[in-house]
Amino acid sequence: MKFHILTLFPDMVDTCLHASILGRAEKGGHLSFHSVNIRDYTADKHKKVDDYTYGGGAGMLMQAQPVYDAWLAVHRGAGREKIRTVYVTPQGRTFTQELARELAGEEELIFLCGHYEGIDERVLEEVVTDSVSIGDYVLTGGELPAMVMIDAIARLVPGVLHNGSSAKTESFENGLLEYPQYSRPFVWHGKEVPPVLLSGNHRLIEEWRCQQSLLRTKERRPDLYEAYTKEKQE
Ligand code: SAM
Repeated sequence: MKFHILTLFPDMVDTCLHASILGRAEKGGHLSFHSVNIRDYTADKHKKVDDYTYGGGAGMLMQAQPVYDAWLAVHRGAGREKIRTVYVTPQGRTFTQELARELAGEEELIFLCGHYEGIDERVLEEVVTDSVSIGDYVLTGGELPAMVMIDAIARLVPGVLHNGSSAKTESFENGLLEYPQYSRPFVWHGKEVPPVLLSGNHRLIEEWRCQQSLLRTKERRPDLYEAYTKEKQE
């Protein structure tokens, strides 16, 4: 799967996306990351990409022209009609595991990162297919939200995680939070690992995990628990 990231700060995304599990998956040919510096596409001779907002108000706005030309260059390079283009914005719908799964089904995605006050509305109207937020708070730029989303999507691409089944048992996959987990030593700070996990009885271990998962979700995320039990009753 290929990710194009349109940004004014390509160093920020490059450092993060080429490291660790995603970096390894890129070397293995499962993923590819292509950061595009929007500033390289400005028609302004001083390389300016932002200007004051019409109507006044604090802060600068990213201009339509460089954003549009950077987006167009990705399309021409890809030779495709329209690649799904995600504008990361606090005004979008909230990112979820379900949306991550849906986006992981695409062959290619474009992420558009805003900065300053955001981006001229006219170019957003022309290029954006999805406006997505990582939560109800405002950050200085779209690079961190884009990386959050890319990480969540990329790990669902087949071959990225060595143990593909681990993604299936994780929180949100079945509408619940994952059960607690333990590793060696058996006793740490006087606390023992729940004995059932050493029983070797897979059925009992499954039952215990399922029960813990329900308890934890009920306690920590009553909204999820309610939705889960309602769905089970239907
Ligand atoms: N003026 C905008 C508003 O009030 O909606 C906020 C602009 S914000 C300071 C600059 C950029 O950061 C946005 O264009 C967006 O790309 C990114 N950003 C900030 N918070 C975000 C969030 N919660 N989710 C996704 N992107 C966000």
